[in-house]
Amino acid sequence: MTYLNNPFSLARYLTDLAPLINLDCGTRTPAGVAKVADIMTEKYQALGWQVIRHQFARECGPCLEITNAPGAARYDVMLVGHMDTVFPPGTAAKRPLRVEGHQAFGPGVSDMKSGLLSTWYALQGMDPALLAKLKVLVCCNCDEEIGSPWSKNWLVEKAKQSGCVLVAEAARPSGELISARKGNAKYRITFHGKAAHSGSALAEGVSAITELAHWVLAINEQVNMATGTTMNVGIVQGGTGVNVVPDFAEAIVDLRFWSNEEAAAVDDRLRFMANNPFIRGCLVEVDRQSVKPAMRPSGDTEALMTLVAAAGQEEGINISWLEAGGGSDANFTAAAGVPSLDGFGPMGGGCHSEAEFLLLDSIEPRIRLLQRVLARLIP
Ligand SMILES: [Zn+2]
Repeated sequence: MTYLNNPFSLARYLTDLAPLINLDCGTRTPAGVAKVADIMTEKYQALGWQVIRHQFARECGPCLEITNAPGAARYDVMLVGHMDTVFPPGTAAKRPLRVEGHQAFGPGVSDMKSGLLSTWYALQGMDPALLAKLKVLVCCNCDEEIGSPWSKNWLVEKAKQSGCVLVAEAARPSGELISARKGNAKYRITFHGKAAHSGSALAEGVSAITELAHWVLAINEQVNMATGTTMNVGIVQGGTGVNVVPDFAEAIVDLRFWSNEEAAAVDDRLRFMANNPFIRGCLVEVDRQSVKPAMRPSGDTEALMTLVAAAGQEEGINISWLEAGGGSDANFTAAAGVPSLDGFGPMGGGCHSEAEFLLLDSIEPRIRLLQRVLARLIP
């Protein structure tokens, strides 16, 4: 059975990809994200699909809610892709889409403009009679690269109306899809002491930096490499002068975990430490600025993995799964109890760097794989 209506044309795909790469659309460049939304809107409307545009906040770009089943109470599948990148304004002009040998390069080429485009290719190329039996929801969000602060609630609400969630982030260069992702959280910890002259009144001061130093060591002691609960004090600052006992310091801390329970225990421990500072007179505040739960496959997810493996076999792709250290929107939908898998885009890597690449030979097979998975999800 051939699902692609027309023979796949790489040249046409790259022509469609270029305008999605050659514009600045970092999360903090909402006008660029809106342009990506315009392009995707036009593509889906050309298929006759309904596109609803949400603007969740003024400082972010729009999100798109796209479906072939307007008004449905339940969807068979929800496909997710983000329209933002991590790159600052000026990047697109400096290094637009470039093809070299079997690879393409450019900002967002694999994270995840190709995933957005391949999702559309898969749907537009599917046999319309098959597709008519499947209620599909496509959610394109604007803020994944900073942890989806504005789109998260919407994504979770839509996921709960869906049988499963497939995220089209890139597959790994070696072809693996992603069945599990670590959770993460970011903390800002602030230390308030008491300033004093270091020469004449040292004993009257309370050093925020000394308190911070105790915390750095205490945090490092909580790292458990065996279970994968890790913390990194990534940024510290504090103090105003070499002859002043510092009354302020702060640390920015990254927490990664496989176990949501262990993450909760770490959170409790940090708050306990804040209530019991090492140095008397020091005031410590713990602010968890973002948190993303770990994504671990449930029984339903394992059934979905089996379905994907069977679809892969049909396509001659040996599906293997990876547990990834980084998070994606699949973390949120999986935590909501909806079977979620990730990595349905073409193969690529080097994300968030100038080395980001897309493997051209993987584009067509991965589109066909997604089509075969979708066909198997027809109830
Ligand atoms: Zn991404």
